[in-house]
Amino acid sequence: MTQIAFIGLGHMGLPMARNLLKAGFAISVFDLVQESMASLAAEGAKAAASAADAVRDAAVVVSMLPASRHVESLYLGDQGLLTQITPGSLVLECSTIAPDSARKVHAAAAARGIGLLDAPVSGGTAGAAAGTLTFMVGGKAEALEKARPILAAMGKNIFHAGPDGAGQVAKVCNNQLLAVQMIGTAEAMALGVASGLDPAVLAEIMRQSSGGNWTLEKYNPWPGVMENAPASKGYSGGFMAELMAKDLGLAQEAAQATASSTPMGALALQLYRLLLKQGNGKLDFSAVQKLFVE
Ligand code: NAD
Repeated sequence: MTQIAFIGLGHMGLPMARNLLKAGFAISVFDLVQESMASLAAEGAKAAASAADAVRDAAVVVSMLPASRHVESLYLGDQGLLTQITPGSLVLECSTIAPDSARKVHAAAAARGIGLLDAPVSGGTAGAAAGTLTFMVGGKAEALEKARPILAAMGKNIFHAGPDGAGQVAKVCNNQLLAVQMIGTAEAMALGVASGLDPAVLAEIMRQSSGGNWTLEKYNPWPGVMENAPASKGYSGGFMAELMAKDLGLAQEAAQATASSTPMGALALQLYRLLLKQGNGKLDFSAVQKLFVE
């Protein structure tokens, strides 16, 4: 049986690791937060004492951390985790990070004979729990073939985006579009409600009309419209606004590097920064609704 180490058990990592367990993989887990490990340990995972301990016997390492700096500091340097991973193993780096940062970790892994894929995901916490995530993979095709059974236990769609870092480029483009859709939906919801419409009625009309989009299908930002959406739970859980701001920053860096014109992405970043400045960074990203209501 493939032994898997899973590092980073947050909103996404925890349900992803749980799906690997359910699929019958033997996993050892590590997170800086002890409590995150406890529930998985109760379900059969080995709670490791450190990241190095987690990877000791692992043929595959999966990581799901917040941002580039966490990933670089975990893997790189003289004390980095790459020095502890057995050559010939495979690392699936699933966090959303800068494409350049991913390429740096790719190069360091290759220098040690360790295979690596950047494999960021889309689908949110609900997709992570249901095992229906979309993986956007950057790296070598043969490494992806090796990874496929593991990714398939956590996701439904697996795309090979291209060479090292390409998964991150695809993810950044997707999240820029998602932010623009979320802001547009929040703005339209606020306009309709201020003009006297019932939010649930308006949401359903737009969902089935030409304004329909993923946020109206799965993630309405108006409280009470969708029972299970973060908006109906005080904007808790889900995808933190500060992580969306991070992704929009990565999109702007990519735009700068390619001299691309991304006015919608730039405005989305400014609106999310405003939301963060109001103390709402830890709330779900649909809390951008707050900018449009008193
Ligand atoms: P999170 O903050 O809930 O989880 C990150 C986890 O990493 C935390 O539990 C933290 O303790 C742990 N961690 C940080 N440094 C560590 C280290 N050195 N060793 C071990 N554990 C460490 O974030 P999340 O929502 O799970 O998101 C993770 C990544 O997935 C981010 O890059 C995010 O942009 C991306 N993402 C999130 C969503 C979503 O809906 N939440 C969707 C798609 C992609």
